[in-house]
Amino acid sequence: MKTNDNDQDKDQLITTLQNEVDTLKSILYMMPGNVYWIDSDNKYMGCNYNVAKLLKLNTPDEVVGKINAEVLTGIMSDKVERVDTINRMVLSSGKAETLEEVGHTLDADGNNVTALYLTQKSPLYDKQNKIKGLLGVSLDITERKNMEEKLKIALQKADAANRAKSEFLALISHELRTPLTSILGFANFLAASTLDATQKKHVRFIANSGSYLLSLINNLLDYSRLEADKFELKNSPFNLKKLINSTLSMLSSSAKVKKISLKLDYDKNAPQQILADDRILQQILVNLIGNAIKFTEKGHVIVRVKPIKQQLKYIDLQIAVEDTGPGISDDDIKSIFKPFYQVENVYKRDSSQTGTGLGLAIVKKLTELMGCKIEVDSHLSKGSCFHFTGHFQRIPDRATSLKNANLLKKSKSRKKRSRILLVEDNELIQLIHITMLKESGCHVDTSGTAKKALSMLKKKYDILFIDIGLPDIDGFELIKTIREQYTKEELPIIALTGFSGEDVHQHCLNAGACEVVTKPISKGIFEKLLEYYLPPKV
Ligand code: ADP
Repeated sequence: MKTNDNDQDKDQLITTLQNEVDTLKSILYMMPGNVYWIDSDNKYMGCNYNVAKLLKLNTPDEVVGKINAEVLTGIMSDKVERVDTINRMVLSSGKAETLEEVGHTLDADGNNVTALYLTQKSPLYDKQNKIKGLLGVSLDITERKNMEEKLKIALQKADAANRAKSEFLALISHELRTPLTSILGFANFLAASTLDATQKKHVRFIANSGSYLLSLINNLLDYSRLEADKFELKNSPFNLKKLINSTLSMLSSSAKVKKISLKLDYDKNAPQQILADDRILQQILVNLIGNAIKFTEKGHVIVRVKPIKQQLKYIDLQIAVEDTGPGISDDDIKSIFKPFYQVENVYKRDSSQTGTGLGLAIVKKLTELMGCKIEVDSHLSKGSCFHFTGHFQRIPDRATSLKNANLLKKSKSRKKRSRILLVEDNELIQLIHITMLKESGCHVDTSGTAKKALSMLKKKYDILFIDIGLPDIDGFELIKTIREQYTKEELPIIALTGFSGEDVHQHCLNAGACEVVTKPISKGIFEKLLEYYLPPKV
């Protein structure tokens, strides 16, 4: 009886084990990808259905005991040696190998086609921890690789298209700026002449539309340059308090019209001299303060500056622009930094509230460029506060005050009737610039070509204004040629250009220009340049 019982138990155990083995085998056979296992003599112990199908075997069991030279012949005989070498490497070193390899797969019609595999070969160990074989798993990555390649090509194409877009924008903005310079210049002359009330109003419309168009072009250009990562930070020491004050006075006329108070609250513990990119900071401030004034009907606009964290060499300064305008809802706050987003329907706005919807998108990118983040706190019908915290290097007060002292000394000793040579081929722009310079008390000679300008240098001039786009020799060459005869101190040259790109500016400076000014140029800019560059009277 007992023997019978034992035999029964044993049979049952064998059946259970057999079932387990069958289950495990069918799991292995059904594994996705190509799975195979090989013994220490590099002979197949088994494989899954995918491999059996690929090797044209009727069942996976048919592979048992075979070597690569037998099973791979026909589909990839040229690769047998390489496959064997890698297998032996894993079997002897006990180190898993991962590799990308070219192999074969079957297409929908059962034909052999080339495929790229990601293969991992891992050693298998017995109970004594001795290598008894290896397990290979290969995944077909042909499609993924193709996608990656397509993505790479698409990215290259997108990059090229983006570059072309930026270049096109730079070119078109130059072409647009030139006639705009004439429109704005003549509108301003007309406005200053004797006109009746209606004529004055019409001229104001022309000037306002011209300025709006100009800001639109500038915004579009800035945004596309920021998108193409063409903006670079150029840090230099400057006085932040003065920069904010001058920005406020620049924007004060529109606040005055609306009777809004415009103030600066500069914390007395915040340093005034910092190292940063003053151009970029001013652009951020002009956008934020401009918006605050634009959307506020009564109350105030205050710029607040306060230290957040003080260190010996660095300071974290929070700069905030606060207004008592309409405020922005939480929903709109999520979108206002996106390009072209405007809160209300643009057609419902009054004429002073026009905009492009690009200002805050530019501010966002510029603050990111400075390594900080613009944020806004706002309550509907109470007002908004846009703020960011910049990490600035402190500067000992002397560095900037020296620079300013020089400027002051030079400007005080400015020679009254200076001789100027203006090299500009566009007759309308020539006329506008001559008028502005004459109004500033200068004697102006002009030339429409580089060659004539060179011959005119026999006469002595105090300063040269040279347009870069000349018909005969380009302005860069002309500046270089003049620099062979005169140093910057002997003859300052100011390059004038319709292009606002960094590369054009750098090109002018490399050629020997002292300054580069982007058109349109106002009388105020001419006066500042004259104040700075004209040599002291002896
Ligand atoms: P826009 O050229 O229209 O001023 P911005 O990108 O500068 O473009 O601003 C996007 C939108 O955010 C504006 O159209 C306006 O609706 C809203 N906005 C910006 N600043 C303020 C503010 N200080 N108060 C209320 N709304 C504002």
